[in-house]
Amino acid sequence: MASSAASRNGAPRGGGGARSLAGGNLRSSSYKSRPSQLPGSTLRRSSTGSFAAAGDDGVPGRVRVAVRLRPRNAEEMVADADFADCVEVQPELKRLKLRKNNWDSDTYEFDEVLTEFASQKRVYEVVAKPVVESVLDGYNGTVMAYGQTGTGKTFTVGHLGDGDTASRGIMVRAMEDILADVAPETDSVSVSYLQLYMEAIQDLLDPTNDNISIVEDPKTGDVSLPGATLLEIRDQQSFVELLSIGEAHRIAANTKLNTESSRSHAILMVHVKRSVVSQDDTLSIENGNSSHFVKPLRPLIRKSKLVLVDLAGSERVHKSGSEGHMLEEAKSINLSLSALGKCINALAENCAHVPVRDSKLTRLLKDSFGGTARTSLIVTIGPSPRHRGETASTIQFGQRAMKVENMLKIKEEFDYKSLSRKLEIQVDKLIAENERQQKAYEYELERMNQEAQNRIAEVERNFAEALEKERLKCQMEYMESVKKLEEKMLTNQRKVINLQDQVVSVSDEVAEVRKLLQNETQRRKASEEEVNKLNTRMGQLMQSEAGGDGEILRIHQLLEVETQKKKKLEEEVMILKSQLLQLSYEADQSRRYMERVGSGNGLNGTDSPSVNNGEKAPVGTLFEQVGLHQILSYLESEDANVQIHAVKVLANLAAEEANQEKIVEAGGLTSLLMLLRKFEDETVRRVAAGAIANLAMNETNQELIMTQGGITLLTMTAADAEDPQTLRMVAGAIANLCGNDKLQMKLKSEGGIKALLGMVRCGHADVLSQVARGIANFAKCESRAATQGTKNGRSLLIDDGALPWIVQNANNEAAPIRRHIELALCHLAQHEVNAKEMISGGALWELVRISHDCSREDIRSLARRTLNSSPTFRSEMRRLRID
Ligand code: ADP
Ligand code: MG
Repeated sequence: MASSAASRNGAPRGGGGARSLAGGNLRSSSYKSRPSQLPGSTLRRSSTGSFAAAGDDGVPGRVRVAVRLRPRNAEEMVADADFADCVEVQPELKRLKLRKNNWDSDTYEFDEVLTEFASQKRVYEVVAKPVVESVLDGYNGTVMAYGQTGTGKTFTVGHLGDGDTASRGIMVRAMEDILADVAPETDSVSVSYLQLYMEAIQDLLDPTNDNISIVEDPKTGDVSLPGATLLEIRDQQSFVELLSIGEAHRIAANTKLNTESSRSHAILMVHVKRSVVSQDDTLSIENGNSSHFVKPLRPLIRKSKLVLVDLAGSERVHKSGSEGHMLEEAKSINLSLSALGKCINALAENCAHVPVRDSKLTRLLKDSFGGTARTSLIVTIGPSPRHRGETASTIQFGQRAMKVENMLKIKEEFDYKSLSRKLEIQVDKLIAENERQQKAYEYELERMNQEAQNRIAEVERNFAEALEKERLKCQMEYMESVKKLEEKMLTNQRKVINLQDQVVSVSDEVAEVRKLLQNETQRRKASEEEVNKLNTRMGQLMQSEAGGDGEILRIHQLLEVETQKKKKLEEEVMILKSQLLQLSYEADQSRRYMERVGSGNGLNGTDSPSVNNGEKAPVGTLFEQVGLHQILSYLESEDANVQIHAVKVLANLAAEEANQEKIVEAGGLTSLLMLLRKFEDETVRRVAAGAIANLAMNETNQELIMTQGGITLLTMTAADAEDPQTLRMVAGAIANLCGNDKLQMKLKSEGGIKALLGMVRCGHADVLSQVARGIANFAKCESRAATQGTKNGRSLLIDDGALPWIVQNANNEAAPIRRHIELALCHLAQHEVNAKEMISGGALWELVRISHDCSREDIRSLARRTLNSSPTFRSEMRRLRID
């Protein structure tokens, strides 16, 4: 029942290609097919036979023709016993050979060739079933049997199969299929059963009605027989009964008319009316994307007609009876059959005029041949060589019929006006939609255009702004630096004036202090004389023993007071001396500074803290006056003031290269290191670290510092101190140590590099500069050792994690830092074992930058040389396409 439902909804059946192709053309009113040049030769076969698949090769409308060979009957068995059959069938090739004589035969091709063994079922499926299905789909269909009397037309078409179900003919089987497919509630099937004899149409269902006229609709050209009985069929049983009644009536009528059934044409007309609910396919086909429109549902009545014709014997066309009624009869039979033959010939030749009106049969079958129906013709032949001629003409008829094309039309009734209205509405909707889309498209285009322009404008604006900003920045920077330089010049000028004043005041102070000192010295001398005097007096007293114990005690006390006084005075003298020393030193420094400023070197600073390599200064004189040992002893004074002065004096002395050896010899270095260890006072510590830094410029001292555990003390200070100046001194000291080839390993193992790196935390440029200097020194020693072959492994700097800081500060804006780091990178890069780490740490980029951008030509070329001499760097640069 599934196929029934599908059919009712107007969907084409899935079976034959012909049907689906026809279905696709239903609404385009007609489809004219072309016959193939070699009928059957290019046909595709379905499981049931070639008729079913007829449409696949593009000729759905052509009349399909099958030939069926009847087995020899009892009479032929005897009569033709000595003769071979006049036909030979080749069903697999769809060919039939008609023997002309013993050595020659003609070959014909048909849409289907059915042998004498072909079953009724197979004949139905091959010949009629596609037509029946087509009728169920709403087309008109015709199946006709043509052939000589006794060749099996009635057996093929009309056999009821009373005794043997397997022998049921096309009529019975067709109705069975139709009834199985229609829905009794909505569809109806009704039949008329007629006989055409001597150009009169008799109603086989009502024998009294023997002259039914054919009515043609002038508009549609549809042929109908309004006078014929039309009985609705509800079940198969009643249909078979109806057929046998019709058959009985036919026999009775023939008896009455004194004729044989073989001389009349029997016509069964089956009218099928089906309701289908269809969505308007036309719209969906024409408007491929109309999903947003609601398709109108259209209730339709689909009317179709199946005409099954058992034609009169074809021999009558050629062999007329002798006389009288027979002659008349022969003429009439002749008339209809020969008119059919003529029409088929005309259609086969594509003639403009087809003589349809010449006979009742051709008028009835008007739309079966060259009309709008799907038509199958089964041509029946017998095997007997005695009827060779008859068989040949039958075959010829079939061959001509194969050339006839039909136009397929589905008949549906519906309201054209409302359809037209609906279509107009849809068209309007489509136009509106189209307009909307067009507008939206234009708007979108405009918007995109605007957006693009906005973007371009924005980019231009941003670019201009950035340019302006950059320009302003440059201008500002330029002005800033000009301003700074001017300020510096001004301060320098002011300083020069101040220093001149200071020198005057310091000289005054020195004179004053000298005077004080002289006074103090005199006082001391006086005190000493007094003490001497007292001593002599005591000796006298002790000699005379006359003074007594009380006097001695008093004198002792006096002596003690005097000793205390003396000590105090001595300390004061020391302080004064150290102050003098300091002042002298400062004056000395000022003098030199002025000299430098005067000679244009005012801005030329130096990295090394408080380096003083001038000639022997007045401080030296003081140093001689006071005595180094005395100064060192004051370092351990309880008085912080004394201690600070002493360390300052010592630091100033250490700044003089000439004094350094003496200081170290006298144990000054040890004392200074002790001060670092104690770190009670930040000033003491800073000054001590500065002094150590100065001493650390000398190679011998560097080793001494290391052996005396100086690096540990410096490391501790580096970790602990917060004052940038202290850190600068400590970093300077370590940086100096870093320049010693012999100390590399020890420096690393005692945490020197880590301490150096740790001090960058304070961020002060002076400290960073010292750190960078230390790293550069270290890297330089390493590269030297690598060149000499005394060092193989990776840089200890890289091991201690210095690389990230190096890379990060390689382009530091402070020139001294940048220079040291640029040199450090070049040194590191000279040793191939460092290359991998340097690449992954980003140092390669910095080296490349240095080789291009460094303002110093020597560093630039050093970087270039270094990069070129390293295979690892070279290959990485090639990979990164850096030239
Ligand atoms: P027609 O209608 O062409 O005059 P019939 O259908 O009356 O021929 O057939 C004549 C005889 O041959 C009948 O007895 C019929 O049963 C028999 N006959 C015809 N075709 C076949 C066939 N294919 N197989 C067996 N018997 C057949
Ligand atoms: Mg017959």
